[in-house]
Amino acid sequence: MFDLKGQVALVTGASRGIGAEAAKSLAKHGASVVLAARSTDALETVADSIRSDGGGAEVVACDVSNYGSIRDAVTVCTAAFDRIDILVNNAGVIEPIARLEESDPDEWAKAIDINVKGVYNGMRAVIPIMLSQDSGTIINISSGAATSALEGWSHYCASKAAVLSLTKCAHLELVGKGLRVMGLSPGTVATGMQVAIKQSGINPVSELDPSVHIPASWVGETIAWLSTEAGNAYRGIDCSLRDEGVRRAVGLI
Ligand code: NAP
Repeated sequence: MFDLKGQVALVTGASRGIGAEAAKSLAKHGASVVLAARSTDALETVADSIRSDGGGAEVVACDVSNYGSIRDAVTVCTAAFDRIDILVNNAGVIEPIARLEESDPDEWAKAIDINVKGVYNGMRAVIPIMLSQDSGTIINISSGAATSALEGWSHYCASKAAVLSLTKCAHLELVGKGLRVMGLSPGTVATGMQVAIKQSGINPVSELDPSVHIPASWVGETIAWLSTEAGNAYRGIDCSLRDEGVRRAVGLI
């Protein structure tokens, strides 16, 4: 068991997929959680399952691409639980999957607003609070796409490279001040995002057999594990869940 008792976590994109499992895992290990996303009905369903297991959970409607919206989500967190110890910057999109010459400039920019500005917005909103507490953990969900190029994914690869850069910059500024900033590259995960990727048929990831994807619950457990002292080894870098040593340390294999 990872002991997160007394900690308070805000998870973006917690309405489904990895974010929902992250919220459940953090709560299972003792943290109170605030679930943020745009689909509040889905958030309530996840929160209800956490509450029925005895955990503390609050829900807040949030569009991470809007700074005011995520600042309000942080306020919900501190109003409900007095502090914020863990931010999981998980919200992200893969659409629009399209080759550059066919891509829609407005849709391309929207993906950057969510995947890049959303991560900046989350960090910007929590860092002053974490600095005042002299502690805090920020986990930015990255991807193998941060360091590789894939056809049809120019927006996604560029955005995840930017997320890795944000992790490195934030670590540089905050190390020594009690704050830990790390990335997590989960590998391929069985969520709605992989369904959309499969349907696109555009690159080798879309050709993967769904059986190779790991369950989202594995990523949730890894996020809880990174929230403990174990995360210290990954400050300023991406932890890769493709690494068997990480899977073993988390207790997944
Ligand atoms: P998913 O099942 O499609 O879930 C995406 C989540 O992000 C949803 O909860 C969605 O909620 C939320 N979201 C999207 N836009 C948002 C916005 N503007 N504001 C707030 N929330 C927003 O995807 P997933 O697979 O769980 O992916 C989660 C993260 O893992 C993403 O950052 C993704 O890039 C990363 N990742 C996934 C994989 C994979 O294989 N699945 C691999 C590597 C990295 P609402 O629609 O309700 O707002």
